[in-house]
Amino acid sequence: MKQQDNCIFCKIVRGDAPAIKVYEDGPTLVFMDINPASEGHTLVISKEHFENILVIDEPAITAVTLTTQRIARAIYRALTPAGMRIAQFNGTPAGQTVFHYHMHLIPVQAGEQPRSHGRGPGDREQIKTLAKRIRAALE
Ligand code: AMP
Ligand code: ZN
Repeated sequence: MKQQDNCIFCKIVRGDAPAIKVYEDGPTLVFMDINPASEGHTLVISKEHFENILVIDEPAITAVTLTTQRIARAIYRALTPAGMRIAQFNGTPAGQTVFHYHMHLIPVQAGEQPRSHGRGPGDREQIKTLAKRIRAALE
């Protein structure tokens, strides 16, 4: 499995950096975004390091897509958002800051103005509680 030493998401996969985990299976890992754009902002990553949509292989992108649907359903059950923004960025000009393929799941409550990225660190205890609620809603 391809890994990159200095990649923060590879470090999380290896257990060398902390994360508030929600779910994992063989090829994918799900954890909370530490700078949430909304309550419940979750990231789905491929465990293998691929920089972006241009280079990720078919099994990995398929696995990430299926996990994204699974987690989206759990977030809808857990947090009953009015909608959900699902986004993926490629390259610095597009807003990519971590160069390891991932999907953003950003639940949007009624009347909330959706953003694609958070503006700063969220409350860790609150994020842990949200993760617990999403985990409990997994099927
Ligand atoms: P992108 O701009 O699409 O590359 O998004 C990267 C996302 O990863 C941002 O929303 C960051 O807040 C988030 N992020 C960066 N480092 C961590 C980390 N250690 N744990 C959780 N989320 C992170
Ligand atoms: Zn990586």
